[in-house]
Amino acid sequence: MKKIILMIIDGLGDESIPQLGNKTPLEAAIKPNLDFLAKNGACGLIVPRTEKGKLPTSEDCHLALFGYNPKKANPGRGVLEVLGIGEKILKEDVCFRGNFATVDENLKIIDRRAGRIEGTEPLIKSLNKIKIKGVKIIIKKAFGHRFGLILRGKNLSEKVSSNDPKEAGDKVFKIKPLKIKSKKTAQILNLFLDISHSILERHPLNKERVLKGFLPANYLLLRGAGKLKRIEKFSQKYKLKAGFIAGGTLYKGIGRYLGMKEIKVRGANGLPTTNLKGKFLAAKKNIKNFDFIFLHIKAVDNFAEDGNFLEKKNFIEKIDQNLKLLLNLKNTLIIVTGDHSTSSLLKKHCRALIPILIYGKIADSVKEFSERACQKGDLGELRQINLMKKILKLAKYE
Ligand code: ZN
Repeated sequence: MKKIILMIIDGLGDESIPQLGNKTPLEAAIKPNLDFLAKNGACGLIVPRTEKGKLPTSEDCHLALFGYNPKKANPGRGVLEVLGIGEKILKEDVCFRGNFATVDENLKIIDRRAGRIEGTEPLIKSLNKIKIKGVKIIIKKAFGHRFGLILRGKNLSEKVSSNDPKEAGDKVFKIKPLKIKSKKTAQILNLFLDISHSILERHPLNKERVLKGFLPANYLLLRGAGKLKRIEKFSQKYKLKAGFIAGGTLYKGIGRYLGMKEIKVRGANGLPTTNLKGKFLAAKKNIKNFDFIFLHIKAVDNFAEDGNFLEKKNFIEKIDQNLKLLLNLKNTLIIVTGDHSTSSLLKKHCRALIPILIYGKIADSVKEFSERACQKGDLGELRQINLMKKILKLAKYE
């Protein structure tokens, strides 16, 4: 039986970019190590898991890649983010992900990210003692302007709407119950949003920000409501000892939710400044202790969402340089793919198929790793939900 390293490069696939000579960022990148793996392995394309008429999301695509039906297994983004922050979630908790935002006196959004505020600790501290109708509201800092929020109490429901209009200039929404039983939860949230708004308006840190010409973080935008779900843990499902290496909060949350063991890497942050070398070294060093390692790399997706195809290409090249560390592993399958494609031209996720390579068992005639070259691979087109089956077969677990 072989060891397995599944490397997911977030938003890997892309479209042809005129400025790159009609190549995709992956095609345009100089990537001898990825090409080596493709040449000596089997290639194909992955069909991303999407809801009808919608664009693929990172969480659904990851769950599908790990062999879980997102419809049943996705607990809501709020749960995954709160787990990613490192918080324990109780069975009855309702979790959200949130942004500090800036609104005007009519509650119209000026900036959904409050000028990408960083040090939000004092603001969070001022909001963390509020209790409404016996329900405790807990806020935990996440990266930058982001946070996770937990409602802790009895008879709470996750079937509530978001208050985030998503566009600057629009007025924030009231949170609405989506079921009769969620009326109380929506009421508590709306009350909390009013109270927190008045606390934040008066907060010394915000007064200081205004004096310095920065936007005050005077409102909370909440979305992704969810409750923990009971699912079969990855290790039980496949009888594999599984670990994960990730910097981004959501991906840590996914790893923890699936019961994978965290392999910590100093400086892994899910950003372009992440400690790539450390992540690959950790995979190399730890594979002897695990059967399966999920290695996640985020920044490629961020660059594409900013429309920065050149940096997307450059970051793929950086990944490639570090990939060298994994080339000499014995008895190990290395799988490289993305969770979905992200169009650098449209600056958002897209439904384009994602290239995949599986190295360590079989080889086909594909000689380079790219969207176009992988079309001719022996793996053909694989749905995400079927990938684990394929991997396990090749690793001889089935
Ligand atoms: Zn993604």
